[in-house]
Amino acid sequence: MSSMQVAPSANRYRDTWCGDLTAERSGTTARVSGWVHRRRDHGGLIFIDLRDRSGIVQLVFHPDTSGEAFAAAERLRPEHVVSAFGQVVDREPANVNPNLPTGAIEIAVTDMTVLAESETPPFPIDEDVPVDEMLRLQHRALDLRRESMQQVMALRHRIVKTMRDVLDARDFLEVETPILTRSTPEGARDFLVPSRLQPGSWYALPQSPQLFKQLLMVAGYERYFQIARCFRDEDLRGFRQPEFTQLDLEMAFVDEEDVIGVMETVMSAVFAAADFAVPPTPWPRLAYAEAMLKYGSDKPDTRFGLRISDLSDILRGSDFKVFESVLTGGGVIRAFNAGPREMSRSELDGLNEVVQRHGAKATAPIVVGGSAGWVGNLAKFFTPEQIAAVNEALGASDGDLLLFVADQESTAAAALGALRLEIAGRFGLIPEDRHELVWVVDFPMFEPTADGFTAIHHPFSAPTGDFADPAGMMSRNYDLALDGVEIGGGSIRIHTREVQEQVFKVLGLDEEEAQERFGFLLDALKYGAPPHGGIAMGIDRIVAILAGRDSIRDVIAFPKTASGADPLTGAPAPVSEEQLRELGVKSLVPPPVPAAG
Ligand code: ASP
Repeated sequence: MSSMQVAPSANRYRDTWCGDLTAERSGTTARVSGWVHRRRDHGGLIFIDLRDRSGIVQLVFHPDTSGEAFAAAERLRPEHVVSAFGQVVDREPANVNPNLPTGAIEIAVTDMTVLAESETPPFPIDEDVPVDEMLRLQHRALDLRRESMQQVMALRHRIVKTMRDVLDARDFLEVETPILTRSTPEGARDFLVPSRLQPGSWYALPQSPQLFKQLLMVAGYERYFQIARCFRDEDLRGFRQPEFTQLDLEMAFVDEEDVIGVMETVMSAVFAAADFAVPPTPWPRLAYAEAMLKYGSDKPDTRFGLRISDLSDILRGSDFKVFESVLTGGGVIRAFNAGPREMSRSELDGLNEVVQRHGAKATAPIVVGGSAGWVGNLAKFFTPEQIAAVNEALGASDGDLLLFVADQESTAAAALGALRLEIAGRFGLIPEDRHELVWVVDFPMFEPTADGFTAIHHPFSAPTGDFADPAGMMSRNYDLALDGVEIGGGSIRIHTREVQEQVFKVLGLDEEEAQERFGFLLDALKYGAPPHGGIAMGIDRIVAILAGRDSIRDVIAFPKTASGADPLTGAPAPVSEEQLRELGVKSLVPPPVPAAG
C-alpha cells in the first residue's frame, strides 16, 4: 500500500506516486520522479527500482523502444534523481513480485530526465544494514532517506496527530509559549542565551512551559495543550536529549481523576494508532512508597514478578554483624526471590557491580535448601525461625536464589530495583510482547538535602499535609510508566499565593528571592486563579517505545549525540570574538582547536 492519501498534482516532474502504480494502472501512462534505489542489467534490458516517499516502482528500459533514455539509464547509479515517463505494463509472469505493492507492473520508459546525480553514498540506502551512528548523524539526510527511518518519522507524525485530534475534539486549545524566557525550575541546569540589548542579562530556554501553562489557566483558557520543545542541560543517556518534545497540557477546575482520565483517552488512541496492544483503561495505580518497596523504582516494570520484600523485622537481632549494624544504623534489609537460577561464583560477584552503581556495598546471595533452610555458611547466623519466615515471605522453595541488600532505605531500594531488572534481563523473564502501564501516585512533596529540601516533582505541585513537617508532606503528583520507562508526569497545582509562598519558603527561597524569580506567578495568583492541574508526556520516549527503538535519537529527525553535539552542523561551535563582544560576553575558555581534515 502506498503511504500517500492523495495523488500528486500533475506537473513536469510527476503525475503519480511510485507506490500508487498497482495492477489497475496497467495500460495507462505514468510520469514518476524519485531516487534510483537499485539497478539491474538483464539480457539487454535495464531495470531500475525507482523510489519516492510512497514506495518503489520498477522502470524497464528497452534498447529498441526506450530511445535516448536507454543510454541514459546505462549511466544511472544509486541515488541519482530522475523523472521518467512511459507506459504502465504488466510484468512477465516470471518477474511478478508479490511482496511489492507495485510488483505486478512496470513502467516501460520512453522518456527520462536525470535531475541530479549522486556520489556513492557512505552507506547503503536500499538495505537496512547496521551503520555506525556517527556516520548516520553526519549524513542525516541520507540516513533519513532509508525506509526504516521514514517509517519511524511517519509513525511520529501519526502519534502527534492523534494527540492533537483527541485533544482538539475535547476543546483543548493549542497555545505556543516562549522559547526565550526565564529559568523554570524542573530540577535541571538551564541553557542560557545572552541578551545583546541588555548586556549582562540572560534568557533561559524553558525546561518546560510549566509556568506559562499555569498562567493560561489563570487567564481562563480552561484547557491548553502544546507540542512543546523543552531544554535541559543534563548529562545524557539513551533516553535523554538536551532538547526534547513533550505533549504538555493543563486543565482548570480539575482533580487528579480528570487529568488522568484525559491522558488515558489520549494515550489509548495513540497506542491504537501505532497498533501497540496495551491493557484497557483504567490503568492500575501504585503508591510511590509501594513502588519503591516492591520494585525499587518510581517507574516500575510490572510485567514480571521478582518483587522485593522488606525483611528488616524478621531478621532483626541475628548474629550476622553486617545486617545487624545496618539495622541498628536505621537501615533496612530487603530481598527478592530470583527463582531457581544457576549462577557461578563470578557471576554472583558480578551482581555486586550492579548494586554498587547505586551506592550499595554488595548483595548477599543465598540459595534455599538443605537442613538449615539455606545452603552455605550464612545460615548459621540466623535462627531456624528467621530462615523459615524469610523463605515464607519470599515464597521460596528449594533451589531458589535469594538476593539481599542491607543498606539505608533509599539505597537498598535502588540497588535491588536495578538487580531485579538485571536478573529479569539476564534470564529472559521480561515478556517483551506484553506491555503494562502503571500510574505512580502519592509522591512525597519534598526530599531532604544536606541543607534543606528540594521539591521531588517541581515547586508548583499542590502539597498535602502540614508545613510544620515538610518531610511528611505529600504531593498531588502522578507519573505514568510504560514497561519500566517514565513516559509522563504531572500534578494538581498550587492555586493560592499563600501556599505557593510557603512551598518556596521550605525550599529556602526568602520572600524577596521568590518575588524576584517568580513574581509574575505570585502576582497572577492574586487575581483569582482557578484550581488547576496538568501533565506532560515525553513524545520522543513514547515514539521510541512504539517504534521498538532503543534510543530516542532514532526517532528525532536531527538529534544530538550523548555529548550534546550535532555532528551534522557541528554545533555547538565557537563564535567570533566580535559576536561575543556585541553580547558583552567574555569566554574564560580558549576556543577549541579545529579538528584536522
Ligand atoms: N512540567 C512538568 C515536567 O516537565 C510536567 C507537569 O507537571 O505538567 O515534568
